[in-house]
Amino acid sequence: MSLLSVVIPSFNEEAVLPRTVQVLSELLKNENISYELIFVDDGSRDATWEKILNAHAKDENVHGVHFSRNFGKEAAIFAGLSAAKGDCAAVMDCDLQHPPAALLQMYRLWEQGYEVVEGVKRSRGQESGSHRAATGIFYRIMSKATGIDMSRASDFKLLDRRAVDSLLDMPEHSAFFRAMSFWIGFNRTQLEYDVMEREAGSSKWSTWSLIRYALNNIAGYSAMPMQLVTGAGVVVFLLAIVLGIQTLARYFSGHAVEGFTTVILLILMIGSIIMISLGITGYYIARIYEEVKRRPRYIISRTV
Ligand code: UDP
Ligand code: MG
Repeated sequence: MSLLSVVIPSFNEEAVLPRTVQVLSELLKNENISYELIFVDDGSRDATWEKILNAHAKDENVHGVHFSRNFGKEAAIFAGLSAAKGDCAAVMDCDLQHPPAALLQMYRLWEQGYEVVEGVKRSRGQESGSHRAATGIFYRIMSKATGIDMSRASDFKLLDRRAVDSLLDMPEHSAFFRAMSFWIGFNRTQLEYDVMEREAGSSKWSTWSLIRYALNNIAGYSAMPMQLVTGAGVVVFLLAIVLGIQTLARYFSGHAVEGFTTVILLILMIGSIIMISLGITGYYIARIYEEVKRRPRYIISRTV
């Protein structure tokens, strides 16, 4: 009989975790699916780990991985996947915003032979106005930069063992689950689901952390910003030709361009373009530095 691993990244989720355990295990037991729930405690500062230990004491299908500090959801997903022993592994949020019924449908699709089942948001659920605006911009830029439609994508997915192994084979430090699970290919299908209300607690993403996340992933999955630099260079070069011809023509006809205004404007404009370009290049160099250090994606302090 095949085993389903459910990977659940959890950061400060003490309020909802016991309920998540209960809902998922009831559902999967009823359907006679053998399962394991892998909670990855992403360095929570509340009683999340104690709740995981409690759940493990009651149900041996519950496993826990505890990070030495907060490494972020991406790291938690990958830690969970590498701990998973199942023939397929699903990733879902701890807050029950990903409907458990959809997990079941994903599993059935996997049984029909699909190797990657992607959860796609039909609606985005309740989010505050500013959060909605921020995520909207984030996904628009991400989709443009990476060439993958991200607007309805989510981390709610079910992967076959082969897909999981190929994900785990990718050595990059800055892993981005959504893009990587797309990149690997395989026999894939989509499943629409409605985003539920968060059962308890609050969203763990601030607008600032979303911006950082966006910058990281854009730099990680596209060289588009570098091409923007090239583009700016070409534009300035064309201007230089036009302005150069005009200046020389005026010089030889006896009336040179007057005053420092032009010079100051040109220096300011070109100076800022150069500095922005250096900044973008520097960002990529920093990313290369991060990668060549070959640090682990996360550090596990305890498991159960
Ligand atoms: N999460 C995590 N580490 C973090 C932030 C979030 O493991 O640093 C987990 C969190 O516990 C939850 C999931 O990622 O299970 C989604 O987080 P959240 O519900 O706060 O995000 P939202 O649903 O608002 O996008
Ligand atoms: Mg949530």
